[in-house]
Amino acid sequence: MSKKALIVWGGWDGHEPEQVASIFKGILEEENFSVDVSNTLDAYADPEKLKTLDLIVPHWTMGEIEKKYVNNVSEAVMSGVGLAGCHGGMCDSFRNNVDWQFMTGGNWVSHPGNDGVEYMVNIKHSSSPLLEGIEDFKVVSEQYYLHVDPAVEVLATTRFPVVKGPHSLNKAVDMPVVWTKRWGLGRVFYSSLGHVANIVSMPEVTSIMRRGFLWAAEGKTLYSGMEAPTFATSGNGNGRVYSGMGDSQ
Ligand SMILES: [Zn+2]
Repeated sequence: MSKKALIVWGGWDGHEPEQVASIFKGILEEENFSVDVSNTLDAYADPEKLKTLDLIVPHWTMGEIEKKYVNNVSEAVMSGVGLAGCHGGMCDSFRNNVDWQFMTGGNWVSHPGNDGVEYMVNIKHSSSPLLEGIEDFKVVSEQYYLHVDPAVEVLATTRFPVVKGPHSLNKAVDMPVVWTKRWGLGRVFYSSLGHVANIVSMPEVTSIMRRGFLWAAEGKTLYSGMEAPTFATSGNGNGRVYSGMGDSQ
């Protein structure tokens, strides 16, 4: 049976979300996924339907989202559904929702020099085989500076600074470009490359996304039959239950 993916695109039009969604759909169909594509956040309205998917691919920049929709996606991923995306479409989606950012592993804060910055993407040779065989490559695009969850596993980086700014007197820093993390049982994959469709179409970037999609979607099968953690009684939280943003209000 083919795996099921949902792509949800929208938000800021400068990111060419419709074209990028169509490239992602093509990649997934080549991998025999059955793919639904939606351009409304109402695609996140039915929590049970989301849990039947293998993979959710959000591509929505600078939007606003109802808290219950984030909770629905979060619960689906916690149950084992994969989450994979790129650029602002996944990590600058909803600036006012920290749960989204906690789940995805980071949020964009700057791209010094804006579009047209030439920089290297350095593949990290680590314990993860996910990007094995992909060589370091050059990109001319936005160089994403993100605030990143220290729990992510970094698979590729880019060195700052290239363009001067208030950050450039800090020592050189290798900013994560590609990472993975876990959210409940779910696998989360992110790449900061993908400002416009032409960048997503670069062979290296397409490879990275293809591998990320497959890896994230594989989690659903691997963990099927396992109980999703409830986070209710474990650890030393004095029996407190993680309930998302409610905790911080
Ligand atoms: Zn961008």
